[in-house]
Amino acid sequence: MYDIKKVRADFPMLNGKTMQGKPLVFLDNASTTFKPYSVIKAIDEYYFEKNSNSHRGDYDLCYDMDVEIQKTRETIANFINSEPNEVVFTSGDTEALNLVAYGYALEYLKPGDKILISEVEHASNVLPWYRIAKLTGAEVCFVDIVDRRVTVDSINKAFKENKNIKLVALAHVGNVLGYMINAKEIASICHKNGALLVLDGAQSVPHMPVNFKELDADFLTFSAHKMCGPTGIGCLIGKYELLQKMATFHTGGGMNVKFNKSGEVIPLDAPAKFEAGTLNLSAIMGFRAAVNYLTELGMDNIHKHDEELFKYAISKLEGHDDIVVYNKDSNSGIIAFNIKGVFAQDEATLLNSKGIAVRSGQHCAKMIDNTIGDIATVRMSTYLYTSKEEIDIFVENLINGGDILDAYFN
Ligand code: PLP
Repeated sequence: MYDIKKVRADFPMLNGKTMQGKPLVFLDNASTTFKPYSVIKAIDEYYFEKNSNSHRGDYDLCYDMDVEIQKTRETIANFINSEPNEVVFTSGDTEALNLVAYGYALEYLKPGDKILISEVEHASNVLPWYRIAKLTGAEVCFVDIVDRRVTVDSINKAFKENKNIKLVALAHVGNVLGYMINAKEIASICHKNGALLVLDGAQSVPHMPVNFKELDADFLTFSAHKMCGPTGIGCLIGKYELLQKMATFHTGGGMNVKFNKSGEVIPLDAPAKFEAGTLNLSAIMGFRAAVNYLTELGMDNIHKHDEELFKYAISKLEGHDDIVVYNKDSNSGIIAFNIKGVFAQDEATLLNSKGIAVRSGQHCAKMIDNTIGDIATVRMSTYLYTSKEEIDIFVENLINGGDILDAYFN
């Protein structure tokens, strides 16, 4: 394991920052994460030393930028076990999912085809499919949720009950309850039934080892900002033959070989054909630094750390019957809970008054109320730098936090 004190020293946001006059306890890591100095330095390096465009000049500075992009692609490919040319840069997870929707599904789905999703998905893995269904005449259908999660049995049942499922889109780890699906088994069921699997890795890739080739998913998406990297950058990882088959989404400079006055366009090969316009170059440099940072700590260690904190927090909440936890047996660093008789947003506001950052509501998974049986929850989520002391402060304030009016009149 790594030394948590040393790790915390790598993050400027953990260096004495306060909120509401109290030491900041940041437990909203499923939303976004802090960046270590090495990532901030890499972003700075672009502006201080490497500032140029890529693919667009016959001079060294520009060539150096091409090298930086390629190095980042290779670093990500190593990290996730894909080929470098299977790494497409997007603005984040949401754009990566939209790229599969508009580049693949819009091109290949037809009336009568089905897209299988679940009611626990984040909006970014629901709304693009609704839009594609409207545009193609395909239909969105839902897998059964069993014990608040998507199971292999429920996927098998969905294929039995629905003919023509052509695409299955699921979160590898859910962003509210943190349950992990058996992606490898589900990919195999999808392929046996002639469907593709799109794996939303927003909450898995930052927290555990994820092996694209071994899982055999067809597409995998994630965002850098949830894994110590910059905002505005993320990835679509796709099997190369599928990327080549896909239509382009954004078009413009940098993605084509040539075009003419008849409107004919010859795109470059993947991944370049999806990367129209100037890329977020400083973020690409920061993304590589983030992946290197995680790799150095070890993804197994990061996962273990989340699991330990989860177990520690759950054990401390044991016996407090007024605290309802919805995912006691989860696989992640996410705890979704409510205090009996207290509205989730009031509880989050009260915790804010104590310097503790958590999220409340539906967490962009706006169909999950059916699964949970409540319209809103409070969500605390840890990351590699979260300390046991922070969990102590969080639990202490949950149990003895005082009245919601404290938040307003302190
Ligand atoms: N999918 C899941 C499971 C998420 O948790 C999130 C963000 O919280 C997203 C998709 C969207 O990610 P982004 O906003 O970085 O595009």
